[in-house]
Amino acid sequence: MAQILDGNRVRDEIKNECRSRVERLVSRGRPPGLAVVLVGHNPASEIYVRNKVKTSHELGISSETITPAENITTEELLSIIDKLNRRADVDGILVQMPLPGHIDAKRILLLVSPDKDVDGLHPCNAGNLVQGRPGPRPCTPAGIIELLKRYQISIAGKRAVVVGRSDLVGKPAALLLLHENATVTVCHSKTPDLPAVCREAEILIAALGRPAIITSDYIRPGATVIDVGMNRLDKRSDVEKIFPSGRPGSAEKLAAFDKKGTLLVGDVHPLDVVECAGAYTPVPGGVGPLTIAMLMVNTIDSAERRIGVC
Ligand code: NAP
Repeated sequence: MAQILDGNRVRDEIKNECRSRVERLVSRGRPPGLAVVLVGHNPASEIYVRNKVKTSHELGISSETITPAENITTEELLSIIDKLNRRADVDGILVQMPLPGHIDAKRILLLVSPDKDVDGLHPCNAGNLVQGRPGPRPCTPAGIIELLKRYQISIAGKRAVVVGRSDLVGKPAALLLLHENATVTVCHSKTPDLPAVCREAEILIAALGRPAIITSDYIRPGATVIDVGMNRLDKRSDVEKIFPSGRPGSAEKLAAFDKKGTLLVGDVHPLDVVECAGAYTPVPGGVGPLTIAMLMVNTIDSAERRIGVC
């Protein structure tokens, strides 16, 4: 039976470590400060931001949410970022994506001070990651590495395959694995014979955004499979395709869908992975919880650097 890599457990461990670091900063003068900029009313973004602010409060991190109206201009938003850059009590600035279409998102992200870029997405920090220099790392890939290490899954010398090449997940995950001395292959939508490439992986990272596409054909028996995908299904027929009646585990998922009208699935087939993998992250409860935990770590790291407590 495959081992479940429990993201909630690792998140709680990381949060406990954060608490003592926040107390130390408070004893030196002030808590870490996180400013979240949420433009307009995107329901999914509002939930993400609420969870980030809630976790900050739980840990004693001072957080504030700035909520400009949907019709704010790029220039006005740049001015908000500029003010946050100058504020001594703000250690981390997070601009929640996606921004409305009329905003020049690249200009906005470029203005965030690299010192306060707790998402690790500024080109300076992407460069730091490429060169293995210190700096904030993108939260989701950093969470994956934490999970592997805390479950004592060795990375050095392993064949790792990352499916997805986004700046947010795929590329930074591949670089972090490379720095941990894995032999890394990065795949994308133009990769021929994706199943064959994936079957070479001892560590397989799926970050495609395609529900349950990574089936048993893609999984080397005994591999560690990390499922980054978060896909919300709202059609019963789609749920039935992934969870056909009679297959162990299907009835519970169909009942959960019937109760809520939606079901969250990853990019990895949730029934196949249990049968083929050596270890895997479930969805929900795998990679997801670690993203916010690593945002807290990045904010505290930034505060420690800026206050001079290291
Ligand atoms: P993205 O920007 O849409 O990138 C998707 C990548 O997957 C692209 O590189 C694309 O290739 C590749 N791809 C798409 N379909 C493919 C296929 N059929 N075969 C091979 N490659 C394919 O997505 P993202 O932001 O990286 O996010 C990926 C998934 O992770 C999404 O489900 C997202 O919701 C989830 N996510 C979860 C968390 C979390 O906290 N758990 C955080 C961030 C993202 P091309 O480059 O060739 O187009």
